[in-house]
Amino acid sequence: MNSPLTKSKFLDINVIRQEFPILNREVKGRPLIYLDNAATTQKPQQVLDALTHYYTNYNANIHRGIHTLAEEATAAFEHTRDAVKSFIGAGSREEIIFTRGTTEGINLVAYSWGRKNIQANDEIIISNMEHHSNIVPWQLLCEEKGAILKVIPINENGELVLDEYNKMLGPKTKLVSIVHVSNALGTVNPVKQMIADAHAVGALFMVDGAQSAVHLDINVTDLDCDFFAFSAHKLYGPTGVGVLYGKKALLEVMPPFQAGGEMIKEVTMQKTTFNDLPYKFEAGTPNIADVIAFKSAIHFVQSIGKEKIRRHERDLMDYGQQELEKIPGLRIIGKAKEKVSVISFVIENAHPQDIGILLDNRGIAVRTGHHCAQPLMDHFCIPGTARVSFAIYNTRYEIDELVKGLLRVVKILS
Ligand code: PMP
Repeated sequence: MNSPLTKSKFLDINVIRQEFPILNREVKGRPLIYLDNAATTQKPQQVLDALTHYYTNYNANIHRGIHTLAEEATAAFEHTRDAVKSFIGAGSREEIIFTRGTTEGINLVAYSWGRKNIQANDEIIISNMEHHSNIVPWQLLCEEKGAILKVIPINENGELVLDEYNKMLGPKTKLVSIVHVSNALGTVNPVKQMIADAHAVGALFMVDGAQSAVHLDINVTDLDCDFFAFSAHKLYGPTGVGVLYGKKALLEVMPPFQAGGEMIKEVTMQKTTFNDLPYKFEAGTPNIADVIAFKSAIHFVQSIGKEKIRRHERDLMDYGQQELEKIPGLRIIGKAKEKVSVISFVIENAHPQDIGILLDNRGIAVRTGHHCAQPLMDHFCIPGTARVSFAIYNTRYEIDELVKGLLRVVKILS
């Protein structure tokens, strides 16, 4: 039966919440209300079980062993690759490279593809709403090569100004790298059209999918992106695992990113030949346990269905925006027409950090600060925001509690 805590028009949230043991804990003497899902999601029991099962039953290093444990671990690890391939609609399993996360995926492209292909006066396009991990690797590359970094501006709603993007594209453009869903605003960018526009001038397109992989249906083949990076931990999976998808033809001619075991075919003191894809980009012992457990996270999402998850989160976001806007002095930052699962806001005379501390005293976890998107905060002339971000287990009741907490903040601080 649904308690008031778990009512939803779309799903039995009560059943879903039971799969997340952490949601039973209290913070500061109150039930935890976790609204920091864009930073990282909580993990369902099946992900926790997969980790324990691996370490309890078949912990072994992968790929090189011929004993039973090594074979079992290798098979489980490679099953996750197959699960990821179909989760994002890739054409082949060789296009799925396991990384530490989105950050490492972007750096891999910047170091390997970038250092081979970018030359002086070439242009790379990013946008003003990028996470630092999709800014700094390109800045470093441009500095090293004498290339030029161009930045698509955004409008007051927090949407990309696409006319400016189209003006920037030209024969000098070599790569465009854009966030699919902004972590700070929730804006969904129209990457499919942007990819077609970039390809029309011969440029490659990288998608930062850190925030989109959990909310949107991802089909990299249909998008026709050249690279797509995301992190397992924002998708109900473990930390320390991410995926870089790259088109096979590109990956095949890219030099290795890191060197060591596993990425080689043959090593002599004179010369080394490199392993086939995807192993050429997976040097050293990978994060075996967490990659294996990531498959359980993908199954968790697939078993509910992204469409249902999206409808539930949309309901929470719409309800949340409607209720938050009633709070005196509160201003929502980022009102894009296409938006998912994030509400960023400021309150007059209240520093975001104080908002966060006062909410934590009521067991409510939100994120405050610049959200690793300082240029975006500069655009809005603010030092930061408070951000609530939703996941499948959140409820309208939790939003009501958030509103009560914010009314208290307003009373104390203003
Ligand atoms: N891009 C975006 C849009 C993000 O939200 C994040 C994480 N906050 C990242 C990149 C980096 O992801 P990770 O820290 O998992 O590498």
